[in-house]
Amino acid sequence: MSGPHVYDMVVVGGGPGGYTAALYAARSGLDTVVLEKLSAGGQMALTEEIDNYPGFEEGVDGFTLAEKMQRQAERFGARTEYAQVERVDLSAAPKILETSEGTFYAKTVVLATGANPRELGIADENALVGRGVAYCAACDGMRYRGRTVVVVGGGNSAAADALLLSRIAKQVILVHRRDTLRATKVYHEPLMRAENLEFRWNSTVTELLHGDKLTGVKVKNVQTGEETEVPCDGIFISVGRKPATELVQGQLELDESGYVVADETTKTNLPGVYAVGDVRTKPLRQVVTAVADGATAIHMAEEYLVGNS
Ligand code: NAP
Repeated sequence: MSGPHVYDMVVVGGGPGGYTAALYAARSGLDTVVLEKLSAGGQMALTEEIDNYPGFEEGVDGFTLAEKMQRQAERFGARTEYAQVERVDLSAAPKILETSEGTFYAKTVVLATGANPRELGIADENALVGRGVAYCAACDGMRYRGRTVVVVGGGNSAAADALLLSRIAKQVILVHRRDTLRATKVYHEPLMRAENLEFRWNSTVTELLHGDKLTGVKVKNVQTGEETEVPCDGIFISVGRKPATELVQGQLELDESGYVVADETTKTNLPGVYAVGDVRTKPLRQVVTAVADGATAIHMAEEYLVGNS
């Protein structure tokens, strides 16, 4: 009697790292499936324009690039299964992945689950998503054309979001908890030049004011303790990201921020399990570094499969 189907490689997550792993695996003749909960692309698919991925001299939107990556991997035989992974046992042989669409078994696993926006953690934040609270200016900015919006954060995401929104909204108020931006210098001058952009330094958002929709926020100056109400139609929370590693907690070694500990080899603490893209410890989280990880992971997985088959 034959047992369950065991894939050579199961890729969890269909972002750029995941589909590059699938492309390399399929081209190497590995029986490969990508488990993706929604649609290809991960965070990349939410990016309006990508100008720093080589080969697209005019830039490319993230959704299109995601579709291209998926089709390219599928051309060589990789499959996509739209399924939510609910539980994994990565130490078992074969490795076990329980999903909304049934259980998958694998000799090797690539974890490419990425990282999601970090929340502020204030009252009613979740309840107001889509009704004034947003995490992605490129995705939701157009809904605030001619309105007033607050952006929270001081890194590259907040800077990019504030600039984008300054071209759409009537007024943008950037609230940052320190007196300088962490964002790279390229953003500073355009931000200072934007006439409809106002800075609230040394400040945090402490409360969301709302009826059915957001009507304003309470902003606290952390030095003086003074609180003011800022009327606005939307708040874009751009305070970094948190890795999607709940699934592997207790199985894979994580760093203090929750990223999977894996170096350039993408090898995790478990044999045959690789972490690629934004989910692993690394100095630069970009599409170009995620795709490099995907290729490396398959190189490592092939070595592992030769020694373990
Ligand atoms: P980030 O660099 O970690 O910055 C997060 C910002 O949010 C920091 O300014 C931080 O304040 C603030 N913050 C964190 N928690 C907060 C809280 N609870 N309340 C208020 N403020 C809070 O994150 P990111 O900007 O999302 O960038 C993530 C990575 O993507 C970075 O490597 C970045 O370079 C990259 N990225 C690049 C681009 C680009 O154009 N090249 C665009 C977007 C993202 P402090 O400064 O006080 O810590």
